[in-house]
Amino acid sequence: MALTDAAINSGAQVLFGANAKVLSLEPFPIVQIQRSGLKHSLRAKIVAIADGLSGGSLDLLSQFNAKIKGNSTFGAGVVLDQMPSYVEAGKIYMACGNGGYVGMVALEDGRLNVAAAFSHVFSRQFGGPGAAAANLLHDNALPIPKQLTEAHWTGTNLLTRVRPQVAGHRLFIVGDACGYAEPFTGEGMAWALWSGLAATGLVLDGINNWTPSLVKKWHQAQRELAMRRMRSQIIASALRSGPLRNVLINLLAALPVVATPLVQTISGVGPNETQCSRGYI
Ligand SMILES: Cc1cc2nc3c(=O)[nH]c(=O)nc-3n(C[C@H](O)[C@H](O)[C@H](O)COP(=O)(O)OP(=O)(O)OC[C@H]3O[C@@H](n4cnc5c(N)ncnc54)[C@H](O)[C@@H]3O)c2cc1C
Repeated sequence: MALTDAAINSGAQVLFGANAKVLSLEPFPIVQIQRSGLKHSLRAKIVAIADGLSGGSLDLLSQFNAKIKGNSTFGAGVVLDQMPSYVEAGKIYMACGNGGYVGMVALEDGRLNVAAAFSHVFSRQFGGPGAAAANLLHDNALPIPKQLTEAHWTGTNLLTRVRPQVAGHRLFIVGDACGYAEPFTGEGMAWALWSGLAATGLVLDGINNWTPSLVKKWHQAQRELAMRRMRSQIIASALRSGPLRNVLINLLAALPVVATPLVQTISGVGPNETQCSRGYI
């Protein structure tokens, strides 16, 4: 809501509950907005697409199709009213296994947020994400919160995907819509914010004076982000490998002093900051 308010205060018009679809790009992009059964088409100088993992606003333009990785996990989450007594505020509890991982954290309002990424095979094996999460927690010797298995979980599409083409004529794609690796390192929002910040200059340049070189510039900027996504994917894959996971956890248990520098090296982030590629948030 803070971002929405900032956009409105900067002069943006915000339409909630509207569905956007890009109909064509040349000579100027035509975007169809649909809301409450009414359709309206707009001609735009620049279109910035930020419709996340599952957005379909570019479905009519096949050159922007995303490629989904064969062994991708899907995301699932739930917020539980009852907080288990062992959960402390400010700590993240994570359980990893070969079929995925689940994380839990206390929310400011006293509820418990549970988020997970599972392979379909693993989730189906237990009859759904709630039971799969319970199995992982049990295997990691963590008590299973009440309501976990009966609660209504929400899920995402398959997560790991890339969109080879992230810009086109007067069009930029930002945030998760560009591609996604794994939620393991919890950086998705930072990546999305970075992507939005980085695109701003190009969008303004494009509105004032469109040139095809802006497409190239956005692809170059994406390469940096792709490296960060790859790092998250490597960590998540490593932790799904039983032997490697055991070696790492035993090492950190024996030498906890190694944990802080290791996490800082992996995340590229100092202890009190969240790094965004071109500055700090
Ligand atoms: C299980 C799980 C756990 C996660 N945990 C974390 C975490 O702990 N920390 C973290 O930083 N990130 C986390 N993430 C990732 C994070 O949620 C995303 O990376 C981030 O929200 C991406 O922002 P975005 O703006 O690109 O897309 P989104 O937040 O997905 O927003 C896209 C918006 O576009 C709208 N939309 C879609 N199609 C259309 C259309 N055709 N017309 C109009 N609107 C449309 C959608 O309704 C949505 O509101 C997690 C993700 C998953 C799946």
